[in-house]
Amino acid sequence: MKLQWALATDTGRVRRVNQDSIYADGRLFAVADGMGGHAGGEVASQLAVETLSEIPSTERIVEAFRSSFSEANRRIMSEASHSEKLKGMGTTLTAALVTVEAGRELFLVQNVGDSRAYFLHKGELQQITKDHTYVGELLRSGSITEEQAAHHTQRHVLTRALGVESVVDSDIFKVIPSPEDILLLCSDGLINHVTDGEIEKILMGNMSLQQRADRLIECANLSGGSDNISVILVKVLELDAVEEDAAAMPSPVLYQEDESKPTPRRGPELLSIPRPIDRQSIVRGNRIFTVRVMAFLLLFLLLIGGVLISVQLYENHSYFVGEKDGAVAIFHGRPGGLLWYSPSVVQVSSLQLDVLNSVEASAIKDKVPEPSLAAAESYIRNLKARVQQQNYVSNHPLGSAPTTTTTLGTGVG
Ligand code: MG
Repeated sequence: MKLQWALATDTGRVRRVNQDSIYADGRLFAVADGMGGHAGGEVASQLAVETLSEIPSTERIVEAFRSSFSEANRRIMSEASHSEKLKGMGTTLTAALVTVEAGRELFLVQNVGDSRAYFLHKGELQQITKDHTYVGELLRSGSITEEQAAHHTQRHVLTRALGVESVVDSDIFKVIPSPEDILLLCSDGLINHVTDGEIEKILMGNMSLQQRADRLIECANLSGGSDNISVILVKVLELDAVEEDAAAMPSPVLYQEDESKPTPRRGPELLSIPRPIDRQSIVRGNRIFTVRVMAFLLLFLLLIGGVLISVQLYENHSYFVGEKDGAVAIFHGRPGGLLWYSPSVVQVSSLQLDVLNSVEASAIKDKVPEPSLAAAESYIRNLKARVQQQNYVSNHPLGSAPTTTTTLGTGVG
């Protein structure tokens, strides 16, 4: 089979990194769309295409191609298990091998995930692969319509991918081409924005094959370019004579190998790889989230610290005069306590409560707050002076009052 091929891959308009990997060597063509982890997506898709590129060109190439998906899966899982950074990485993989089977040249197409293979045959575009997505399975089972699928919130949730489970379940299709047919492999970044009708129109155009590949990328970008976009076009120029004989026999152009095998019905609750719309923005979002949380925590701690310091200062400068075992005493703290601070006795004076008049005794029992220790001491001194004056008057009814000036302390009440 004589082929011409063109490759194009683009980061798109939204993402910062291209996690798609593509490969073409004339006998093997592959598109892988990586996902997960910080750097994981690129590593997973790269590992997948690298595994394919190492398939030896021997007689056993078909067996090697068939087992290459399991090998790629094993490598991705092994790599992920050795690195915290790569944990959870995975990739789709859609690949085509040029081979000969029963005397006819054909493309053996294998896929896992939602990167697609299409085939333009006699001017008509057919989708070869089936999307291994939750929505794809709902669609095939008839649970939802094409229209509902196109706008389904879980349309990016994969049900199969490499790097997720130890056993890989790939689909294999056989495509029997004719000259001028075009095989298209692409990642979902194309399909998300360009309809099958538009793809068909571009593939049927008069541009060179490379220009057609570039035009597909351009269209996806013009419609938003929300994801990485990868495209491989393989055009059949000539078929070997052996194939032409075989081509005369009636046969389907496209069929799935082992189509009767039951499709694993796995919904997102069993196996899902939610694909971020924009992994970069999510990483950025996390950073914003972290900065906001940190700022909030800092503010909260400052506020709590401020409150604690204020309480401590208030407590440190609070005294009151009260009663301790029948005597007038000075206490440190607020009457009745403040938060976890309980008042403590600082001084117990020699002044007994029962020598005070009823107004003074009642005030002491109710506790008299004072702004400082000196003010509390002054308050008690004044009480003592008043009592002394009263005693003097009692003992010297005709004498003159002592010269001591009596003033009650501040804050009585
Ligand atoms: Mg993608």
